[in-house]
Amino acid sequence: MDCLFCKIIAGEIPADIIYHDDDVLVFNDINPQAPVHKIIIPKKHIATLNDITEKEAPLIGHMLLVAKNIAHELNIADSGYRTIFNCNSDAGQEVFHIHLHLLGGRKMHWPPG
Ligand code: 5GP
Ligand code: ZN
Repeated sequence: MDCLFCKIIAGEIPADIIYHDDDVLVFNDINPQAPVHKIIIPKKHIATLNDITEKEAPLIGHMLLVAKNIAHELNIADSGYRTIFNCNSDAGQEVFHIHLHLLGGRKMHWPPG
């Protein structure tokens, strides 16, 4: 499958992997938008958030728990952080393998651009 994040999972494309377990992989974003910018992906290929079903609910919950744990480890839990799933073009999704952005280490703006 021609999917960038599946290639990172397969080890065919290098990435700065900071955490992995049976279900997810976490790496540094190649173009960070904040001092902390991690990408949390499921090892299973799912193209967009529109494709998740009840079956994926534990996986999505696990991704958020991993984000929380990393935020604690990187000392941004108290200062704050943002978690984002971009879905399709209006949200600016560029890689069609679902991923959770974990952003922190600076003040975020609201509403987002
Ligand atoms: P999206 O816009 O789809 O929500 O986010 C895709 C993210 O993946 C972007 O923040 C982009 O910088 C990041 N990204 C794209 N290609 C690569 C890559 O080859 N390696 C890494 N580590 N991040 C990437
Ligand atoms: Zn994929």
